[in-house]
Amino acid sequence: MNKSEMVPIGEVTGIDDLVALLSCHVGSLPLLYLGMPLGASYKALGIWNPIIEKVERRLAGWQKLYLSKGGCLTLLKSTLSSLPTYFMSLFPIPVSVANRIECLQQNFLWGGLGDVHWFHLVGCSPIWCGGLGVRHLIPFNRALLEKWFWRFRMKESHLWRRVLVAKYGVVRGGWITNKPRGSHGCSIWKHVMMGWEVFASHFSHDVGMGDRVLFWHNRWCSNRPLKETFPVLFGCSLNQDDFVASVLVSRSPGSSSDKLRWRLNGNGTFDSRSFYHALLAPVAMAFPWKMIWGVKSPRRIAFFMWIVAWDRILSCDNLRKKGFVLAGWCCMCKADDESVDHLFIHCGAARLLWSLVFRSFGVVWVLPNRVLDLLFGWQNWFGKRSSGVWNLIPSCLMWTIWRERNNRSFENKEIALDKLLETFCGVLFDWSRVWGLLLLHL
Ligand SMILES: [Zn+2]
Repeated sequence: MNKSEMVPIGEVTGIDDLVALLSCHVGSLPLLYLGMPLGASYKALGIWNPIIEKVERRLAGWQKLYLSKGGCLTLLKSTLSSLPTYFMSLFPIPVSVANRIECLQQNFLWGGLGDVHWFHLVGCSPIWCGGLGVRHLIPFNRALLEKWFWRFRMKESHLWRRVLVAKYGVVRGGWITNKPRGSHGCSIWKHVMMGWEVFASHFSHDVGMGDRVLFWHNRWCSNRPLKETFPVLFGCSLNQDDFVASVLVSRSPGSSSDKLRWRLNGNGTFDSRSFYHALLAPVAMAFPWKMIWGVKSPRRIAFFMWIVAWDRILSCDNLRKKGFVLAGWCCMCKADDESVDHLFIHCGAARLLWSLVFRSFGVVWVLPNRVLDLLFGWQNWFGKRSSGVWNLIPSCLMWTIWRERNNRSFENKEIALDKLLETFCGVLFDWSRVWGLLLLHL
């Protein structure tokens, strides 16, 4: 047992003899147990150092320069943001640590781009609200921590639950402990309990026997507790704290026990994801996210289209808005000012490509003024029928134009418009073939 440690808690007499007997070492708190700090204050910033170091190490290991933005985003969402998850399901993350990790993530994704603050604001929204779906750590941490409320109800025989019940007692019905009072002991549970009100507003009770659901205070027969729906009656009631079973005639003796029902998803069982989104409370906004993330284009192109939809690509007019002084002419038609809507819709080169598409598919459609409106209207044959190839067209066309525009601006290389048409058809064909989509019309 020479790899083991014996950790005395409080005054232990004869520890040296015990250690000699078992041939192990004497350890002291705090220590690391199963990767988690044991005996350290949960507020200590030091316990997060290994996590921050790990995030930093991962970032240094990935050769960011060789990854596209789409690749960076995939890595960020799949690996990086899940690194602290284990810790965050047990410890409240200090704001400074959350900021530090989010800062590392932002730098990884955006590098030195000037709009980092904006990107961060938008990036943390869910994708259907126009964001990138990168996790915001503070609400995510709360969603993970408050899962303990759900477990408290579901795991009645577990030791940790029995300890909490013995220490604080339970409120009527046994769904949760009494509020921890005083300044001493079990501060993590005290911290978790601070979120109880918000958590409780998202579940209701399925009444079985009715002996654990409070008639007036719990949500069981409508979306609100009866005391809120009928405040006058509640005021008159002599039995304000009664259970449903003692107010109503109970059902058949074989009724099941009372259950909790999570209201933020369809199956009634708690999941951190739905709670996280409720905590994040994203501002609902119309955004053509299906035409960006839901089409079969490569990830980096989807990312490019996301930037286009937000009108944040580095076109001449956007650069001028950032304070750069430059001539704003469009290098595709060499006539008009370059803006996102001009480049991808109104420019002569873009019109040529769009008219080729319409001719090939036998469609008559008036192009809208703005790229955003085009993306809204385009999906699935203007909402008529599903088509993978059709949905790829805006991404493919705008990407082809953007590449040619960059070649002309930075490489001084220019291809003729008929060659551009060929390139567009070739790229569309390649993307469709990769995904096994049939290319019927081009
Ligand atoms: Zn132009």
